[in-house]
Amino acid sequence: MFLNQTELERACAFGRAFAYRSHRSPQGERYKRSGPPVVARPLAAEEPRNSVLKPLRVTLRSMNVPEEITGSNGFAIRAERVSRRYQMGDTLIRAVDDISMEVCRGEFLALLGASGSGKSTLLNLMAGLDRPTSGAILALGRDLAGMSSEELATHRNRTIGIVFQSFQLLPRMTLEENVELPLRLAEIPRSERPARVHEALERVGLSARTRHRPTELSGGEQQRAAIARALVNQPEILLADEPTGNLDSKTGEEIMSLLAGIHRPASGQGRTIVMVTHERQLAERYADRIVTLSDGAISREERLR
Ligand code: ADP
Ligand code: MG
Repeated sequence: MFLNQTELERACAFGRAFAYRSHRSPQGERYKRSGPPVVARPLAAEEPRNSVLKPLRVTLRSMNVPEEITGSNGFAIRAERVSRRYQMGDTLIRAVDDISMEVCRGEFLALLGASGSGKSTLLNLMAGLDRPTSGAILALGRDLAGMSSEELATHRNRTIGIVFQSFQLLPRMTLEENVELPLRLAEIPRSERPARVHEALERVGLSARTRHRPTELSGGEQQRAAIARALVNQPEILLADEPTGNLDSKTGEEIMSLLAGIHRPASGQGRTIVMVTHERQLAERYADRIVTLSDGAISREERLR
């Protein structure tokens, strides 16, 4: 199936991202330009802050992080006083309200909270799919606000894998075509792609389903394919928004075991995982640490392992 570059980027960013296209500069030099351009949103004037509602600052000391990963490279993601507000008519919604926190490299963090507490909004900010109203997000030491939309798209493509509750596979494509998309976007040579696609599909146990379309698969299989797509570029960080939310509990268990194996594989390099869930039990079984959100702010932090 043929997609032009813009459609490809849209498909890989699953409808939320900023499309970009290849262009030539007046000098004939090939470069990529964003379209539509991402204009940094003007920071909303600071609303009067209720001094009693201090954000819980999650520090390295409180996280009891081992020395070797506390260096400048110790963080996969860092949020600094991040807010995301929505103006709906007369109402200002503070979806994420002044959150500061860090996710260490190699950590499995669960973001827990009731529906509407801001989990998805925070995850999308961490992914660079959305920009904060104020505050900064750093991923592997780089400030996302300082990135052009092209850099941001590249960053998302190479560094971050994203898995959604609703799988977000393209229905007209086979599984192998779906999983190949991020490689096409990363301009991986055509000759290298099949091996990588098959390796990713094998990793999630779908070697026998490569030519199937998503509708021909069970929910669990679709989520496995979405995980293969998220991992095919070998990103260091995997972000998952309620990855078991649309699955029955047995299938959900299988997906969680898969994520646990991706976090700490028997051999090879592990991954940083941030998983959004509203199920405490799930978070307790798999995560190294749980950060609970309430009304867009951190209300609790628990280190489990
Ligand atoms: P959760 O994932 O924890 O269920 P969300 O992050 O989706 O919560 O939403 C947090 C709050 O922000 C909710 O009150 C939601 O209605 C609001 N919200 C989220 N996205 C938007 C949007 N695009 N426009 C307006 N309000 C939004
Ligand atoms: Mg959500």
